[in-house]
Amino acid sequence: MKFGGTSVGDASCIARVAEIIRAASRDNDVVVVVSAMGGVTNKLIEAATQSEAGDRRAVATIFGELRQRHDAVVSALISSAAEQNRVSNKIHEILEEGDRLCEGTILLRELTPRALDSISSLGERLSAPLIAAVLAEQGVVSEAIEATELVVTDSDHGAADPWINPTRERCEARLRPLLRRGIVPVVTGFIGATAEGVLTTLGRGGSDYSATILAAALDADEVIIWTDVDGLLTADPRLVPGACTVPEISYQEAAELAHFGAKVLHPKTLRAVMQCGIPLWIRNTFAPEQPGTKISPVVPTNGGGVKALTAIGDLALITVGGPGVVGVPDVLGRTFATTAAVRADVLLISQSSSQNNICLIVSSSLAKRTVEALRLEFARDLAHEKVEHISLDPEVAIVTVVGQNMRGVSGIAGRTFCALGRENVDIIAIAQGSSECNISFVVAQKDMKTALVTTHREFQLGHCEFATVPSRLS
Ligand code: ADP
Ligand code: ASP
Ligand code: MG
Repeated sequence: MKFGGTSVGDASCIARVAEIIRAASRDNDVVVVVSAMGGVTNKLIEAATQSEAGDRRAVATIFGELRQRHDAVVSALISSAAEQNRVSNKIHEILEEGDRLCEGTILLRELTPRALDSISSLGERLSAPLIAAVLAEQGVVSEAIEATELVVTDSDHGAADPWINPTRERCEARLRPLLRRGIVPVVTGFIGATAEGVLTTLGRGGSDYSATILAAALDADEVIIWTDVDGLLTADPRLVPGACTVPEISYQEAAELAHFGAKVLHPKTLRAVMQCGIPLWIRNTFAPEQPGTKISPVVPTNGGGVKALTAIGDLALITVGGPGVVGVPDVLGRTFATTAAVRADVLLISQSSSQNNICLIVSSSLAKRTVEALRLEFARDLAHEKVEHISLDPEVAIVTVVGQNMRGVSGIAGRTFCALGRENVDIIAIAQGSSECNISFVVAQKDMKTALVTTHREFQLGHCEFATVPSRLS
């Protein structure tokens, strides 16, 4: 069971979480994965960047607030003075470590990816012992464990990938004996370590991935991601107020949604369980009576066509264009070698059949750097007018329509075009994967919400018509 930042946001939320774990651990072996308290990772990253800027006072203020926030939970939920002292001391010890890391950064005025990982991981290292202590207070025998002991990763700081075999060995050695003794391990999400023991992080929102990594390593029966919404919804509820819970969805569909921006799941979450077929649930900590969404290898047969929508904003469209592009040697290879060199993740490409326009979508934050690198790469071709322009539209969004049963359902693109046309939303580019599990449209950032709401209405996704409740193991 993984509990996200909002689920462990304050004392009353943590009390709910403890109750959910207590009930589940009566009849099951449970491993708990926790995120930092909501907003804490952002604050830690701010402390790290303020350290690089040399602002000691800003850093001290942040650490002061963090101390208060965690101490408030200790005094609200732990009754014995001795236990309060023990947990507070642990929290202060971790915060002092953070202070020292920031002091080092202030002295060097350099924030390395390795130091940023160590600072941003403190939130999970604070919440795990806190939640383990609250569980103990409720009579659930538990032990806080730092995932640096369990999850072995490569050294790609900020986006580390796990190595499953050594992770499996460590989980067997460290977690299995606890489970056999009826102890609930409370593991820090988000974090791993290289084989040499250097702390890494899996990327923002990575605690979802931590949960599936541990589940795969332990051959778990199921994974439950506890969050602040009723499940995977037909669209981001902050953008489409009428979004409904999808009761059942396939791995592939959920992975497409996660990849194209549905924040409820970290994009890599399903990678870890895809091979072993472990089902994953998304459920609401604040409405545990709701069944949630079941994500499994099976494609549910109900409701063909569009299953859900997602969107990513703050993107830029780069066009490499001109009638001579077709004659430029290896234009695609050179374009992608250039984006790779500036480490710009290309989220979507679209190429006209005449090859005189290649459109790429990258994050806005990397757009300028990418355009400059492309202009350099194609400088000679630009001089000879083979490539007429490399242009940039800095404010676009991708809206993606997802549904595995879309294969064979004709007219989905057509219906979307018509509906968006009626609302005067201009479609700038379109791409469809050969799996036919998604169709993506590029629209202006200002049109993103209208595009989502209109498409949601067009496919009647707000009718919650797939009302069958899937079965759960426990
Ligand atoms: P946690 O802190 O539990 O990890 P996140 O904030 O990372 O939670 O993810 C949950 C949020 O994801 C929801 O509150 C919701 O606003 C957002 N979200 C975006 N798209 C979807 C979607 N399709 N279904 C459910 N939630 C979504
Ligand atoms: N605390 C981390 C973050 O905010 C990881 C997570 O919550 O999943 O990115
Ligand atoms: Mg999350």
